Amino acid sequence: MIDKVFYIRTLINGSVSELTLYVGDDGFIKKVSYGRELVSGYEVIDLCRGRQITLPGFIDLHVHLRDFKLSYKEDIVSGSSAAASAGYVLVCDMPNTNPRIDNAEVLKMRVEEALRKSYVDYGVYCGIPSEARVVNDLLSLKNLFVGFKIYPEDLADRFAVIKYLLSVYDGLVVVHGELPEYALRPSIRDLSLRYLDRPSWGELVVANILSSINKASKIHITHASHPSTPYLCRSLGFTVDTTPYYFLLSSDDVRDCWSKVNPPINDFVSKTLVFSNVVKGVYDAIVSDHAPHSVEEKLSDWRLCPSGITGVEVSSRVLLTLFVKGFISYELLIKYLCRGPAKVLGIDDFLGSLSSGFRASFTVIDFSREGIAYTRYSKALKSCLDGFRYVGEVVKTVVGGTLVFDEGVFNKPKVVVLGSKS
Ligand SMILES: [Zn+2]
Repeated sequence: MIDKVFYIRTLINGSVSELTLYVGDDGFIKKVSYGRELVSGYEVIDLCRGRQITLPGFIDLHVHLRDFKLSYKEDIVSGSSAAASAGYVLVCDMPNTNPRIDNAEVLKMRVEEALRKSYVDYGVYCGIPSEARVVNDLLSLKNLFVGFKIYPEDLADRFAVIKYLLSVYDGLVVVHGELPEYALRPSIRDLSLRYLDRPSWGELVVANILSSINKASKIHITHASHPSTPYLCRSLGFTVDTTPYYFLLSSDDVRDCWSKVNPPINDFVSKTLVFSNVVKGVYDAIVSDHAPHSVEEKLSDWRLCPSGITGVEVSSRVLLTLFVKGFISYELLIKYLCRGPAKVLGIDDFLGSLSSGFRASFTVIDFSREGIAYTRYSKALKSCLDGFRYVGEVVKTVVGGTLVFDEGVFNKPKVVVLGSKS
């Protein structure tokens, strides 16, 4: 049954077109008409003011919304509202929570929390369990998670379980590509030179190791920092993403814990090459790897402070700016933020388009507005990407037909938690 009608203005084949979207009470687009159709009997939401353009809703494949015992860093309410304010309609949350999401009990708990608290649709990753039999427990709950995540320590401690998983699971496995030999030892150089202690070529080795044992899974290398990684991934049949800090920052910019991250920010040449990869379109998605910590933690000694950069409020604005300034095409913008991540998740018939049959999730941008990025809604309060001058402001975000974010005002929608696709 039709519930609402949206008037939107969007880009079709390079020109601006007005559309009327009819949205059902199930949150899906039921019908799309060219132009502004006069209707009566429905709630009408007009998204055509000024120079506003509606895009398919953005998807972030990699966030850490913490919660549970780490709620002091971020929780699902603060993290998901920060994501909605940046135009994201779906976030996929990493399992290194406390407690870890690596068993059926914690997974169910996480899904309940997400349904209750999240302002955007949600995907949960499972960590690698300590025993292979727990993999089977989790595989019986495939409708509750979007994939698994492999960390460097799993390669050292849980390799047999990884081997088992890759032989029986035909869904998505996301990989943090660092070698445990380097990732698990303390840094011996200072903060700006950590990239020498944890060399980025480890990504290439990890990808080759996993390729040699993979039988069934769809492997995705996340936050790739080495410029050759996307090309190797393509040759191995893997997918790959990177994150803005690897093409906005180099080791010369790393002065304090706010830019401490794993894998570490690389040298200037790598940064430049990753940027040229982004412009060439070789990644499947750009993610935020939003990894908040408290101010106290980030101000502690650089050897001890936790790694992670808060980025969900900046990432989409970086890509909008690259589009406005002509570095990337409209098609590439949509690939990186919408269609590419939807394909990686196997949900490109659900999100990533403003067509009939898709979820009514979209993002309204005012391309005439500019600003300076700062952390507005995340509990982390600060990011090393704050201060980025962006062009193109997110003014509204719609999730499943609900106006979730409207110029600083939030509305809790009925969200969907996604399952694993084979
Ligand atoms: Zn991460």
